[in-house]
Amino acid sequence: MMDKKCTFYQNRLIDIFYEEDIMDKEIQEHIINCHECNKYWKELKEVKIKVDKDNEEIPIEYIKISQAFDKVEDIKSKRLNIINLVIFIMISSVLLGIGLVFAMQGFGREIIYFQVIVHTVFPIFLLIFVKIRTLKEDYNG
Ligand SMILES: [Zn+2]
Repeated sequence: MMDKKCTFYQNRLIDIFYEEDIMDKEIQEHIINCHECNKYWKELKEVKIKVDKDNEEIPIEYIKISQAFDKVEDIKSKRLNIINLVIFIMISSVLLGIGLVFAMQGFGREIIYFQVIVHTVFPIFLLIFVKIRTLKEDYNG
């Protein structure tokens, strides 16, 4: 997962690499403070050294590969979202199923207990879910 800010800076780094943009204070500061972008810039510079030596068309290929990696990361996080949702739906349907079974067997009071539990436990569950998600998203930021 890549930070939106980092995507912006890395796109700028590519422009700087092609001398279509200049290294200003803002981007310099980000590179100093951001491990991800620092690595990215070092890799770009390494490619430049290599290209200057060999005079080959590597950079375009390199950027294509790096963009492909970004896409894979994107798809991965999208899949993770879908998995989370599926798990959530599965848990809800299982709980609903248990509730229905109890209802059919005439456990009126148990149903009420069940409803109370669902309505108190589920929001907590949701909160934990959201918390985990935001923690994961902030990890590389
Ligand atoms: Zn960054």
